[in-house]
Amino acid sequence: MQNTIGIDLGGTSIKTALITSKGRIIKKYETPTQADKGSKTVVDNIISSIEKIKSGKIAGIGIGSPGPLNYKTGTITNPVNLPFRNIPLRKIIQSRFKTKVFLDNDANCFALAEAVFGQGKKYENIIGITLGTGLGGGFVINKKVYHGRNNAAELGHMTIKYDGPKSRCKNNGCIETHVAARGIKRLFNGSDPYSICKLALKGNKKAIKTFDKMGYYLGIGLTNIIYAFDPDIVVIGGKISDSWKFFSKTMNEAVKERYFTKPCKIVKSNLKEAGILGAGALVLEK
Ligand SMILES: [Zn+2]
Repeated sequence: MQNTIGIDLGGTSIKTALITSKGRIIKKYETPTQADKGSKTVVDNIISSIEKIKSGKIAGIGIGSPGPLNYKTGTITNPVNLPFRNIPLRKIIQSRFKTKVFLDNDANCFALAEAVFGQGKKYENIIGITLGTGLGGGFVINKKVYHGRNNAAELGHMTIKYDGPKSRCKNNGCIETHVAARGIKRLFNGSDPYSICKLALKGNKKAIKTFDKMGYYLGIGLTNIIYAFDPDIVVIGGKISDSWKFFSKTMNEAVKERYFTKPCKIVKSNLKEAGILGAGALVLEK
């Protein structure tokens, strides 16, 4: 199998890499997205990143992007952090580089990376959860992303408290308002959730208590997910997963308390570049 190119398109940076079919990164390039300069600049930055990385024959290009997007048409609809409004990114990149191009949302790419190269390698049914600004989810069955009609695994908007706080989605009291950066900020009643992680590391009691609560809420959400899908493994990544040691205890307690039999394994991701690897794996998936 030839090498692939994986692109992790984010609101602040574009990470691009040349990857072997075994998941080894041969060459990597990172550049600012320049989202404030509009869609043409962002597309140009993606194109020049690919030019910097591309060498020899490749099997295709995979792009992981914030959603909402349509994976079938390869169109990015209207993400919060990117200046894209119905941009047919796949078509643009495909006609420029004359190779197969695949597009999927970043959480699905994370889950696929775990299924193909990471903690889910030995398993058939994998659920990936990313804890960043929000909570992202992805289902991978036999190394293929499950999409439903298009938007499957939008796990962040699963309600865990029906009379809970208002959410940016319509599903108030959704898990995102209780976990990930958005939820931690609310629980702690502070500003930067990543500084709350640093406070916890220093032994700050309020910060530690915040992660205790957050972990319990996450456990409630995971229980619902496990009831619905009974996967072989759940892998948790994203920047907030760095605080694993502060939230995993209450998370596991909640799942144990609430699930009717022995729950599946719930582990922390240990892939360094899951976003890029998962994007590259989109090419292998087809
Ligand atoms: Zn929501």
